[in-house]
Amino acid sequence: MFSMQKLTRKMGLAMLAISASLALAPIGPALASAPMAHKAAPGFYRIMLGDFEVTALSDGTVKLPVDKLLKGIKPAAIDRILAAHFESSPLETSVNAYLVNTGTRLVLIDTGAGNLLGPTLGKVLENLEASGYRPDQVDEVLITHMHSDHEGGLVTKGHMTFPNATVWVNKKDADHWLDPDRMANAAKDRKGAFKNAIASFKPYIAAGHFKTFTGDQPLVPGIRALPEPGHTPGHTGYLVTSKGHTLLVWGDIIHVQAVQFDHPSVTIGFDSVPAQARSTRMNVLAKSASGGYLIAGAHIAFPGLGHVRKAAQGYTWIPVNYSVPR
Ligand SMILES: [Zn+2]
Repeated sequence: MFSMQKLTRKMGLAMLAISASLALAPIGPALASAPMAHKAAPGFYRIMLGDFEVTALSDGTVKLPVDKLLKGIKPAAIDRILAAHFESSPLETSVNAYLVNTGTRLVLIDTGAGNLLGPTLGKVLENLEASGYRPDQVDEVLITHMHSDHEGGLVTKGHMTFPNATVWVNKKDADHWLDPDRMANAAKDRKGAFKNAIASFKPYIAAGHFKTFTGDQPLVPGIRALPEPGHTPGHTGYLVTSKGHTLLVWGDIIHVQAVQFDHPSVTIGFDSVPAQARSTRMNVLAKSASGGYLIAGAHIAFPGLGHVRKAAQGYTWIPVNYSVPR
């Protein structure tokens, strides 16, 4: 028998049952409309420097126990400084390389870690391709110093990643890191750095694509080497100039920007000769500030491009304004 009253009562009970089941249903992923993507944009950022095109290439990031690595400052002070920058140790640290197209030469400065330092690094090649270039188009590779996070990308599965490129490095680094006797005499935990250097440069040396330089000298029209010794014996910056605009690709002058701009005397455990690394950092920071250079830093937060200004204590880092090249 149809009864309006019964129907209304039934509907009411059904509604109660639905709301009860909703109340019991798990809240969260089961009701989410889309899974999280967990992906970043391709890691390249492009600017013009006079007539030159400069592309910052991310190799990825690595977490460093900077509270243990930094020297000449108390761990508690490091923790305090990092907290003031909304960071903590281990600190996620960028590894950057830079591609310069001068119009006649395609020049890559540093190559990232390749497969030497784990899966969070080694992305220079894919980002170079994402940025619109092929590795066989690279004419010159300039290495700031022979540490794994700068040279590892030279090699892919034992072969030259950049088959048409000449690779340049300061002779002092080549003499140090490619010396088998020095490797044999090195402390056990230091041997890996020598082994990685030898493996990374081997195919270029075999192909006759390896060259060294000895000091402050031009290497490519518009790019000159600027020795910055201390972090390694032949650590070198590259000064890129076009139409009166100057970019200094300074390598590892700063490892921890939150700490070392304010406290340039602080060194890091990776330094070959810490006192020399310290005085080089002081000189390069002073020159960068007075010259108004655009800076590219291998371990400054990607894209690692900005300027340095003298401050009451130390220096201030001023990242570039976001811009889209036209
Ligand atoms: Zn480095």
